[in-house]
Amino acid sequence: MTAYISTRNNYPAVSAAAAIKTGMVPLGGLFVPEKIPRLDSEQIFALPGHDYIPLAQQIIAPFLGDFTADELGSSLAEAYGGNSFSHPLIAPLHSIDGGLYFLELWHGPTAAFKDLALQLMPHLLVRSAAKMSTGKEIIILVATSGDTGKAALEGFKNVPGVRIVVFYPYRGVSRVQELQMTTTDGDNTYVAAVRGNFDDCQNAVKEIFADQGFGRALAGDGFELSSANSINWGRLVPQIVYYFWAYVSLLHKKAIMPGEKINFVVPTGNFGNILAGWYAGKMGLPIRKLICASNKNKVLTDFFQTGIYNRNREFWQTQSPSMDILISSNLERFLFEMTGHDAAKIVDWMGDLQAKGLFQVGQTIRELMEETITSGFADEEETRGAIREMFGSHRYLLDTHTAVGYKVYQDYRRKSGDETVTVINATASPYKFAGSVLGAICGREQLQGKDEFAVLHELEKLGGAMPLHPGLKGLQQKPVRHQAVCDKTAIRRQLMQWLA
Ligand SMILES: *Cc1c(COP(=O)(O)O)cnc(C)c1O
Repeated sequence: MTAYISTRNNYPAVSAAAAIKTGMVPLGGLFVPEKIPRLDSEQIFALPGHDYIPLAQQIIAPFLGDFTADELGSSLAEAYGGNSFSHPLIAPLHSIDGGLYFLELWHGPTAAFKDLALQLMPHLLVRSAAKMSTGKEIIILVATSGDTGKAALEGFKNVPGVRIVVFYPYRGVSRVQELQMTTTDGDNTYVAAVRGNFDDCQNAVKEIFADQGFGRALAGDGFELSSANSINWGRLVPQIVYYFWAYVSLLHKKAIMPGEKINFVVPTGNFGNILAGWYAGKMGLPIRKLICASNKNKVLTDFFQTGIYNRNREFWQTQSPSMDILISSNLERFLFEMTGHDAAKIVDWMGDLQAKGLFQVGQTIRELMEETITSGFADEEETRGAIREMFGSHRYLLDTHTAVGYKVYQDYRRKSGDETVTVINATASPYKFAGSVLGAICGREQLQGKDEFAVLHELEKLGGAMPLHPGLKGLQQKPVRHQAVCDKTAIRRQLMQWLA
């Protein structure tokens, strides 16, 4: 059975259920599987290519040894089997020419790829909690740059024994994202805007997790904390599935030969999505390059190019707000793997990051990283250009995050001459960022005097073949139910007020 260990060697090995229920390692650090299960090429070739659920079961099962096949099967059926995904394939591939595909990960209820994880995770978490049987009410504490918040609210609302608490940066998310969150119903949902950016929200949440005294006080009141951010292993494991799904779909289309390597391009913020791709590769999926695409907050591009991770820099609010992050939490897991599980190194680096805002890795690690990861970024104008270009040439709408990926891919292809079949993870529906997308195609003047919803309908006319995402319909008629705004220093107080 796969055991989970801390990246900082400060916690005993635990079961998958305990890792998911606990979220983050209480003293700091993240849970990772001690061993990564492997599939050989025959097994990959034999994976079901037309049905997401059985494929997901085969990929996830070896990571979740303390779940029975029945428990997993019903969790997966509840997550992907109903009508919460508006496409029967869950994550269809859209073919462009020249061996390029977009993996549309945005057909779930909140129109971003996070649904792939957060529709499943609540079922895993509730079952994990039942296995641990502490009898406490679970508080899911979420910091969001926009998309996780709504996806977690949708996944966890009205789940018995759970409350879901979300903090997002005030004026740091799109209007659609904000309304998606603040109009959420359910009697266990709590949402506040924070005067600060995403890193402020994430830091406050991490501090709350790491404060053991606070944890004991909560336990005394019958609560325990868990996380729906990608620091929780339960968020990452469902994401490994769609890398296999994309590959097997290409095999079935005869777009690739069995064993042929492909590239994935991943618009990146907290490094969760791309890390899931790295795990897929480690499990045996033939991947040539994982292309890490950043927006103007290009701390990761600089890191992969210099070995220095330096968050001491200006923070930019961009059109791709879900990637506006300077501290990419999941890099810690990746570095733990790159060092061959050297927790002492991780403790040093994360200590430096905390104290000085930067750390540096050595040449060996850099070379090792370069074997699988390559990186690049797109600034705001380049992102608009990518949207315009794809719409002009293929009448296909890209959202701002996916457009960052497309631009970075074009740069990569030009520089490397690599003609490998490539899948770009399309992380959000273009309708979720309608203003930016329409502005990129028609010019900013088109937006003048129009609210986000007028813009949405204009984009819909332009989109033609791409129907308006059902999760975004009627948003402006829904009553706003969450209006709290708090200072970044008052996040804990806000939480206690809600729990009182
Ligand atoms: C969250 C998000 C990202 C970044 O994903 P990470 O797993 O945090 O790297 C990219 N695009 C969209 C649309 C997102 O919602």
